[in-house]
Amino acid sequence: MFRSLHMKLMLIIVLLIVLLMTVVGAFLINSVVSYYTKDFYSQMAQAFGDAEFLSDLRRAPAQGEEDGAGSIARILDTYNSALGVDNRSRKYYVLDGSDGRWLAGSDQQESGVQLTMTHNLTAALNGQTGDDYNPAQRYMDVAVPIQRGDGAYIVYIIDDRSNVQELNSEIVTLIIEALGFGLAISVLLSFLLSKTILTPIERLTEGAERVAHGDFSHKIEVASRDEIGVLTGTFNHMARQLKTTLEEVENERNKLGTLFLHMTDGVVAFARDGAVIQSNPAAERLLGRAIPVGGEVDYDALFAPIAPLQGVLAVEQPGYLDGTLEVGGKSLELLLTPFDRERLGGVLVVIHDVTERRRSEQMQREFVANVSHELRTPLTHLRSYAETLSDGAGDLPPAIQQNFLGVILNESDRMTHIVQDLLTLSRFDSGRSELNLRPFDFARAVEEVYSAVLMDAQRHGHQLSLEAEEGLPPITGDRERIVQVMMNVVSNAIKYTPDGGRISIRAGRRGEERVWMEVEDNGIGIPAEDRGRIFERFYRVDKARSRQSGGTGLGLSIAKEIVDRHEGEIKLVDRPGPGLTVRITLLVEGPRHVQD
Ligand code: ADP
Repeated sequence: MFRSLHMKLMLIIVLLIVLLMTVVGAFLINSVVSYYTKDFYSQMAQAFGDAEFLSDLRRAPAQGEEDGAGSIARILDTYNSALGVDNRSRKYYVLDGSDGRWLAGSDQQESGVQLTMTHNLTAALNGQTGDDYNPAQRYMDVAVPIQRGDGAYIVYIIDDRSNVQELNSEIVTLIIEALGFGLAISVLLSFLLSKTILTPIERLTEGAERVAHGDFSHKIEVASRDEIGVLTGTFNHMARQLKTTLEEVENERNKLGTLFLHMTDGVVAFARDGAVIQSNPAAERLLGRAIPVGGEVDYDALFAPIAPLQGVLAVEQPGYLDGTLEVGGKSLELLLTPFDRERLGGVLVVIHDVTERRRSEQMQREFVANVSHELRTPLTHLRSYAETLSDGAGDLPPAIQQNFLGVILNESDRMTHIVQDLLTLSRFDSGRSELNLRPFDFARAVEEVYSAVLMDAQRHGHQLSLEAEEGLPPITGDRERIVQVMMNVVSNAIKYTPDGGRISIRAGRRGEERVWMEVEDNGIGIPAEDRGRIFERFYRVDKARSRQSGGTGLGLSIAKEIVDRHEGEIKLVDRPGPGLTVRITLLVEGPRHVQD
């Protein structure tokens, strides 16, 4: 119950009271002493200033009168009240004027007493009135030399101040009593104060402790409108603000944390000594290793070959260093930058996966090289035949000229094909080629393709068959383009199957949502290592054969673009040779997503 503030409060009040009482007591005692002293000397001055009194004392004794000292004593007795002599604290003495010997006194029992030679008494012995006061003395005295007839006497009045001492001890007792009373009040007052001041402070402390432990639910009751009430209100407001701010910070942190966790770029933060302080799953995935915080893997183990840690720390913001890293077949681009250099800081490394970009750049380069090559070959042919024709104009037999012109026409047709196919692809790439989506009869389209190639197949001695399930539904799609895909696949089967082969076209339905068409041949087929690349642009297993049959190497890539845009699928069916089976699957309802 004696909490420290309570104790302090009580101590202050007690000290205050003790101090107050001491000061009051000292003043009181001092005033009493000074009043009494002043009173004594003024009484003496008044008495000895009385001419009648003095002349009585100095009157020459009459004949037969007793000794001078006795008569002086009698006179003094009559003036007792004026002199304030009570024979207890204040006494008078009649002393011999020459040696200060006791002759008479107010107290007869003191007969012959040897008095202390005080300063005033010495002065009187020297014939002067001794009425000096020295506050250091514990007494007050006056010594007046009196000449009575022939006799020289000293009237000596001394007050031992015992009256004052008594009064003072009364005052001290009173003060001690008051002090005791004051102390009792101080205890009571401190309890009262603790109730009115300490209890709200205590509640405030409790509340602050709760807030410090993160509990913001408790609101401290504002009990008064004084300073403590205002403080409590302010504290409540502060706690509310703190809660809101903390929630906002937490929210931001969660957002950043989620972003950090799910971002596709890898991020690793290192302390100045190179230890890992933060890393996200993308960084571990891209670098293909675990990067535990504070683990053995540090900056040097990961990025020392890109740039030394000190080098990165020395980079001026907002600058950064960059580099590339090849990890597990992935191309990674790294950005290294220091952070928070004023304080502890460290280094932040952002890892960006550029494998796709690199691949597409590579493909782009290959594509351009392929296009140039594909166009250069027919152009070379064109030029050489045209030159031969031009050089030997008139000399060449008409049959050969005719043949050369045929080659020239063929080559320019091939170039036209290539350019047309490239244009189609370019339109798909740039999204300029809109699909003309309409419902159409899928089975009819398959039959149409069959009829269109039948003659060509027969010319090659192939056995072409068509098997379509009954009741195939109409589907939504761009009929013209889908027929183009079917034609391409069937033509390829005819092209890449030696004469006299067997080619089957089949069509059917898979579930409610899909229809399919399969073209199977028993031709040359495609080696396993090439099967994955067959839909790439300009990819041909046997370039010479393809060119010979008028192929551009773009047919299947265009077919795949078209089928993809219909959200369908075109793939090679996995089956043992010989020959090849290509399967096209399409959605009955057409593409679900809006075309861009
Ligand atoms: P091309 O114009 O050369 O036919 P495609 O894109 O249509 O181009 O076909 C790409 C390559 O795939 C062809 O060059 C050929 O090597 C191979 N190919 C396509 N269909 C068949 C098939 N039915 N049998 C064997 N090889 C095929």
